Amino acid sequence: MSNRRLTIGVLALQGAFAKHIEMFDLLDGVNAVEVRSGDQLDACDGLVIPGGESTVISQLLTSSSLLEPVTKWCSEDRPVWGTCAGMIILASGLTNMVDADEKVIQLAALDITVERNGYGRQIDSFETDLDVVGQARSFKAMFIRAPKVTEVGSEVEVLAEHETSPVLVQQRSVLASSFHPELSDSSAIHKMFIANCF
Ligand code: GLN
Repeated sequence: MSNRRLTIGVLALQGAFAKHIEMFDLLDGVNAVEVRSGDQLDACDGLVIPGGESTVISQLLTSSSLLEPVTKWCSEDRPVWGTCAGMIILASGLTNMVDADEKVIQLAALDITVERNGYGRQIDSFETDLDVVGQARSFKAMFIRAPKVTEVGSEVEVLAEHETSPVLVQQRSVLASSFHPELSDSSAIHKMFIANCF
C-alpha cells in the first residue's frame, strides 16, 4: 500500500454519514469528509453513498445540484461504495417501490437488481455473521430495512452472501453492501473500500 493520504468523501445529505466518517477516522492515512457540493467531491479519492432513505437522498441529490457531479463521478469509473440506501441508488434495476409517487434515482453504476426493503420492515432488522471473500474472520453485519439483491450481472463479483442472496458485491471500483458496515465493531469493509481508492 502507498503512503499517500486518501480523502474519502461521504455524501452527507441524509442518513448514516456520521458513523461512516467515524469509522474512516480510525484508519491510518485516511481523511474522511462530508460531501454536500460538487467542489467538495472534486477533492476526494473515493465516495460513499450511505444508508438512510433512498427516496430522500434522491430528492436531495437533485435539489442540492450534486446529481450531475455524482453521476459524472460514476460514469468516470471512480471509486464509489453504496451501503443499503446507497446500494439502491447505485443499482441498475429496482423492484418493490412501495408508493407510486416515490422516486429513487438509479445511477446504474452497478449491474444488479435490488428489491427495496426485501428483508422486511424496521422491526425485521437483524444482525448476522457473514463470511467475506478474502477475510479470515467473519463480519458482524446489521441489516436495517435492507435491499435484497435479486439479480447480478456477469461482471459483478459476489463477496458475501446471506442465505444465498448476495449482500456484498463489487464491479470494477464500485462496491455495494445491503447492510451497514459502519455500525460494526470491525473496519474490515471500510478497509476493502480504501484499497479500491489508490
Ligand atoms: N429501505 C431504505 C430505502 O429504501 C434503505 C434502508 C437503509 O438504508 N437502512 O432507502
